[in-house]
Amino acid sequence: MDFSLSSEERQIRDTIRSFVEREVMPLEPEVLRNERAGGPGIDPEVLRDLRLKGKKMGFWGINTPEEYGGAALGPVMSAIIAMELGRTFVPFSFGGSADNILYGGTEEQKKRYLIPTIEGERRSCFAITEPGAGSDARNISTRAVKDGGDWVINGEKTFITGGNEADFVMVFAVTDPEKGANGGTTCFLVDRDMGWRSTPIPTMGQWGPASLVFEDVRVPEENVLGELGWGFALAMQWIGQGRYMIPAGAVGSAERMLQMAVDYAKIRTSMGQPIAEYQAIQWMIADSQVEIEAAKWLTLYAAWQVQQGMDARHASSIAKLNGAIMANQVVDRVLQIHGGMGYTKELPVERWYRELRLLRIFEGTDEIQRRTIARNLIKGHARLGTIGE
Ligand SMILES: Cc1cc2nc3c(=O)[nH]c(=O)nc-3n(C[C@H](O)[C@H](O)[C@H](O)COP(=O)(O)OP(=O)(O)OC[C@H]3O[C@@H](n4cnc5c(N)ncnc54)[C@H](O)[C@@H]3O)c2cc1C
Repeated sequence: MDFSLSSEERQIRDTIRSFVEREVMPLEPEVLRNERAGGPGIDPEVLRDLRLKGKKMGFWGINTPEEYGGAALGPVMSAIIAMELGRTFVPFSFGGSADNILYGGTEEQKKRYLIPTIEGERRSCFAITEPGAGSDARNISTRAVKDGGDWVINGEKTFITGGNEADFVMVFAVTDPEKGANGGTTCFLVDRDMGWRSTPIPTMGQWGPASLVFEDVRVPEENVLGELGWGFALAMQWIGQGRYMIPAGAVGSAERMLQMAVDYAKIRTSMGQPIAEYQAIQWMIADSQVEIEAAKWLTLYAAWQVQQGMDARHASSIAKLNGAIMANQVVDRVLQIHGGMGYTKELPVERWYRELRLLRIFEGTDEIQRRTIARNLIKGHARLGTIGE
């Protein structure tokens, strides 16, 4: 069993790490200032320039196939890169990628939606959640009804990431109420100028989703993505394939914060010695490192399964559940080690504290991941005692 990276992989990791330290982390004070003034953390122009710098270095479409101009580094390297990017709270990601369900489109759809998204000319969002159906995504009620050659969509979506900025949406609607999620739910590619509207939803973090309203929005037949009736399966495939990316980012954030806590514990004195000398502090540091390491390897294992073409759903649920809880425990301890300073806006800990809370909710809550893991075992879809099988 070999846990090491090849020299090429190590080189990629190190190059990204120094890119993040040199180009991205210096933007942190500005991002905090912009966000606290109520604006977007990073100026879109600055983001564009950074992405172009990354592109020049060969980091464009990390997990995008080469035929679409991507680097096609694969799931394990994507997870490692997400860990590196997670070290900063600057909302930066490399360009050149698109939601993987867009690869399931027709040639014409690829030309109109996939390629411009990869190129950064178009922005998408993915809309399944509704006010009445979140965890219970099989139960959505947005309706698409055939009228001549078009589909007419009515309904409301909520908490849609990027929904304010997107110029098209991959929206899931019921096309056959009798069949529902099993053959009666379809995904449609819907341009904003076909008539849907969005409203921002303020949240406790910087992740600003939107609610979307569809009122008699007409969509031509050629905008059905994938097979008619099988949109739910498509949605689950998309979410399941990329789930390991969430704990990957969490590992990077937790490592950076834990380092801050270690550094602070060495210089902050109380009752005559640095707080790092107290067992109470050491245990928080030790527990955090143990949990980070566990999350790191569960995440890489899930990514490795995706890379091998295995069914990675069980491993991904385990990694996502563990990583989300880990990050929240670590940020809480890091805040505690910083005492009152941790609670102030002078440090970024509170910003991370608010942002990381989301990890336990989106792309399947903790409870839904536990439900999936338990049901897989109870139904025999997953077995205990396996290694790499
Ligand atoms: C910032 C943000 C961004 C998001 N981005 C997107 C996006 O881009 N696209 C999109 O479609 N959605 C998005 N979502 C929606 C997200 O996936 C849902 O919020 C999530 O799935 C939970 O659904 P809910 O909020 O309706 O909670 P509910 O489903 O109402 O759950 C409420 C509580 O009940 C628990 N619960 C529910 N069912 C069960 C059960 N069977 N057993 C045990 N406990 C249960 C939940 O775990 C939770 O604790 C986003 C959400 C947020 C907050």
